[in-house]
Amino acid sequence: MQYPLPIAKLINSFSKLPGIGAKTAARLTFYILEMNENDVTEFAQSLINIKRDLTYCNICGNITDIDPCSICQDETRDRSVVLVVEDSQDVMAMERMHEYDGVYHVLHGVLSPMEGTGPDDINISQLIKRLQEEEIEEVIVATNATAEGEATSMYLSRLIKPAGIKVTRLAHGLAVGSDIEYADEMTLYRAIEGRREL
Ligand SMILES: [Zn+2]
Repeated sequence: MQYPLPIAKLINSFSKLPGIGAKTAARLTFYILEMNENDVTEFAQSLINIKRDLTYCNICGNITDIDPCSICQDETRDRSVVLVVEDSQDVMAMERMHEYDGVYHVLHGVLSPMEGTGPDDINISQLIKRLQEEEIEEVIVATNATAEGEATSMYLSRLIKPAGIKVTRLAHGLAVGSDIEYADEMTLYRAIEGRREL
């Protein structure tokens, strides 16, 4: 027996999420069928709003509901230090630490020859523009401790250092292959305190 179309469509949508197989997708769909209508409407509205109300900061590339983002607008932050991360979740992880008071730059990816991701495919040109236009003294490269993260870090170092700007890399309290967004605050704090110059 086939599912009625609305059910099949929702199962299909859930199946596109990471870590959700066909069985879980069906279970979630039938769960939603049992939920009260207000909760379902709110859930559906949140899904629509997350795409409609969010944009990328034109300065740092972070995901935001105001442009420039609240971090770029914050006058109390140190604009001479830019911490470069792979994605917005890394910014949120760093912010949870409450120890970093510089600004950010979000690459939205890493260099990966294997997957055909080159410098033009990630947010590097905007970083170079910032380095030319703003008074930046240090760039902390906080890409993940993966092969791609390391390659991206080396690339940025070679690109930025000739301009006389200090380039540092997070210390490896972070295990090789680990993701910054999942690191606890103490590990991140040690990684940033122990950063070394490239
Ligand atoms: Zn910003």
